[in-house]
Amino acid sequence: MNYLRRRLSDSTFISNLPNGYMTDLQRPDPAQPPPPASSTPAKSPTAAPTPPATSPAPERKAQPAQSTGAGFFSSITNVVKQTAASAGLVEQTQVTTPKKFKILLVIDEPGQEWAKLFRGKKVHGDYDIKVEQAEFNDINVVAHANGTCIVNMQAVRNGTKVVRSFKPDFVLIRQHAFSMTQNEDFRNMIIGLQYGGVPSINSLESIYNLCDKPWAFAQLINTCRKLGADKFPLIEQTFYPNYKEMVSMPSFPVVVKIGHAHSGIGKVKVDNHSKFQDIASVVALTQTYTTTEPLIDSKYDIRIQKIGTDYKAYMRTSISGNWKTNTGSAMLEQVAMTDRYKLWVDTCSEIFGGLEICAVKAIHGKDGRDYITEVVGSSMPLVGEHQNEDRQLIADLLLAKMNQIANNEANAPQRPTTVQPSQGAGQKGDITTDGIKNGVGRPPQGCLQYILDCNGVAVGPKPVQAN
Ligand code: ATP
Repeated sequence: MNYLRRRLSDSTFISNLPNGYMTDLQRPDPAQPPPPASSTPAKSPTAAPTPPATSPAPERKAQPAQSTGAGFFSSITNVVKQTAASAGLVEQTQVTTPKKFKILLVIDEPGQEWAKLFRGKKVHGDYDIKVEQAEFNDINVVAHANGTCIVNMQAVRNGTKVVRSFKPDFVLIRQHAFSMTQNEDFRNMIIGLQYGGVPSINSLESIYNLCDKPWAFAQLINTCRKLGADKFPLIEQTFYPNYKEMVSMPSFPVVVKIGHAHSGIGKVKVDNHSKFQDIASVVALTQTYTTTEPLIDSKYDIRIQKIGTDYKAYMRTSISGNWKTNTGSAMLEQVAMTDRYKLWVDTCSEIFGGLEICAVKAIHGKDGRDYITEVVGSSMPLVGEHQNEDRQLIADLLLAKMNQIANNEANAPQRPTTVQPSQGAGQKGDITTDGIKNGVGRPPQGCLQYILDCNGVAVGPKPVQAN
């Protein structure tokens, strides 16, 4: 044994161990009693699989050499364990079976229930899908450079606010990540998810890029240059980085669009120069950019949406007479998809590395011409009578993408990994906001395990996949 202890202090010995050998260190000893039943995740797709109990890891004691079963390598295993554990140097984590579910985080309003669309669905043949749904307001993200990303989600259970932590395998973002209205800036969450490498539809990169309307409009300018104004009739627009340059306008009326906001907020119709100066004085307080467009004498708004390979076109006509058809009452009708519309949305779906879910907005003027105004991404509100179908299309898209990722992972070269207790949310993993902890806000337990030799010298941080 002393020989082995000496050998274990040699980092080359550790690194030359057979593939998967170190993994064995985290497996339960054969002689140990079986883990409690709750440590095996449930298989229901929506019912929260019960995570392993988060009781403190059992104190490791030196074990007598096993006379049966594991043999020589098992003895080495025990020595390594004893050596590292006696030095108190190995982070102790509870061991369980691999989780058999993937966590899909959906950021959406509570009214839209996504879990039911994934009931009974599988990823890569045998992973259930557990849907965690929340609004941006109710989540927080901690991401680590090793690719671990933990989402802390507030929920109310039995009247008590609880925070649950889990590691999302995929994310769908259906809420606007940014608006300059108060408390509507969630770009930090997008950054966190991107930092943690969480795959998403649409891509997090595209979501971040769509957080400034003029930035996205710049892409449309490129498209217009490529296709020509006949095929891609983009509205004329002027960008002002701040109020200082807002001194003159060639012709009125114009629409002034202040900063980045949604649902008609920050859009003002301006008829003359003196009103324009008034608006410029308001913009001075906002410390943001502005764009101006000619006010189109509009017959109706057009919206061409694309979800995967499904296309739909709608026209919206104001009933209440508001120049913004998304304010007040309006009538929505589905119209035929034309090649022209398809070209618009197909070219727009290529920006920022690709938008699987997107819509192009345009205004059809009384002059019979179209004016493209904007492209929106996966946060676009669903409209019309086919909303359920659209939601199903999004779910199918997600499922296909999750399968593709799982297949890629399965085909990727294997590296030794240790099975971690699932961070998947479950009632036992909850914490109350009065601070009873379960690792929330801290690096996830066991995301890095340090194997050290008997001299206390690290022979390598051992990245551990949490799923
Ligand atoms: P979203 O909510 O999709 O982020 P928004 O409502 O904040 O967008 P826009 O869609 O640009 O902003 O404008 C709101 C409405 O105002 C449009 O649906 C359209 O009816 C009208 N509108 C916008 N720009 C013009 C324009 N240049 N001329 C005439 N009407 C316009």
